[in-house]
Amino acid sequence: MITIFENASVLDVEAGTLLPDRHVVVEDGRIREITEAPVAAGDARRIDVAGRTLMPGLVDSHVHVTAYSANFTELQRTPPSYVSAAAGAIMGGMLDRGFTTVRDVGGADFGLARAVREGLIRGPRLIYGGKALSPTGGHGDVRPAGIDAHDDAYNQPGLGRIVDGVPAVRRAAREEIRRGAHHLKIMGNGGISSPTDRISSDQFSEEEIAAVVEEAEMANLYVVVHAYTARAIKRSLKLGVRSIEHGNLADEDAIAMIKERDAFLVPTLATYRALKDEGVEAGLPAELAAKIDDVLDAGINAVEMAHRAGVTMAYGTDLLGAMHRRQLSEFSLRSGVVPAADLVRAATINGAKLMRMEDEFGQVKPGLSADLIVVEGNPLEDISVLTTPDTHLKLVMARGTVTRSAL
Ligand SMILES: [Zn+2]
Repeated sequence: MITIFENASVLDVEAGTLLPDRHVVVEDGRIREITEAPVAAGDARRIDVAGRTLMPGLVDSHVHVTAYSANFTELQRTPPSYVSAAAGAIMGGMLDRGFTTVRDVGGADFGLARAVREGLIRGPRLIYGGKALSPTGGHGDVRPAGIDAHDDAYNQPGLGRIVDGVPAVRRAAREEIRRGAHHLKIMGNGGISSPTDRISSDQFSEEEIAAVVEEAEMANLYVVVHAYTARAIKRSLKLGVRSIEHGNLADEDAIAMIKERDAFLVPTLATYRALKDEGVEAGLPAELAAKIDDVLDAGINAVEMAHRAGVTMAYGTDLLGAMHRRQLSEFSLRSGVVPAADLVRAATINGAKLMRMEDEFGQVKPGLSADLIVVEGNPLEDISVLTTPDTHLKLVMARGTVTRSAL
């Protein structure tokens, strides 16, 4: 099966330029070639792009596809069957916004990834790490302080699991690897949606973090850390963590260290804005809302510092429940401090590099998976082209299949 996109302006994300009048041939789910001359192929399906922009499908490197609610205590008590159905709806929405790959950093598993692969669920390619590892009382511990019991059945839905001590942490890491994890996620300090922790507290001992890093590296994987404070970021980097999530309270030192270690920063400004505006309505317990202010305004400063220091940033959103519709707002929120070409890179090639899958997706390039979108206008000149899919997103192709088209 051959599809030819004709008369396309191809966005070269590496160079940050548009290449006009190109013809892109897709065969068996992959990009076969990009030519300047029209391509003769008898029975190919032809799509006239009419000068619009053809670019790689978007990559969101920080999602939780099972988070149908912002109330994690509630999520944990919901039947897995319901959560899977809700995740299907959430992933379909992502695909319709132009995301063809997402990296789930807590909650998704091999079952959901398989359902997407087999076409049972409409959705982006799902890169997952299973459940995030958290110490007792950490960001993955959803028990209010008055509750001692917890159901640790693995199939109980939830973004995290509680593990304490080096042997338990190693075992949990090995279990996630056994279930096909693409990375391991740990909670490195407090978070907003967890009922009993403080943003300023570090989580896990150095020995525990080092053990997870060792297990990941033995399997040629990497570790992802939930971290806000400069202290937690530096501690994680020192112990070999490669992907820093959020990073709102980073200082210049922490940013320099991310750069020096060739690590990645995945800011998620979208979720703090969303939580502030409508978090409680979406299920966030009202008593946790005060924690949002600790990180909301600082987030943009961290992004600005990171951009200035040349840190590689990926696009992340971390949205929960009904707030998922704001998935494209991260572009707007960063646009005051990051140029459009870098925003596009964050949401394409940088995400692919972060996942070590740059030979699979993230560019319009021969040999790569045909994960492509067509947009009206030039996102390098006006990033709002990407944030307004109703009017500007004309086509989505995921792994060679057109999933949405207005052409
Ligand atoms: Zn998250």
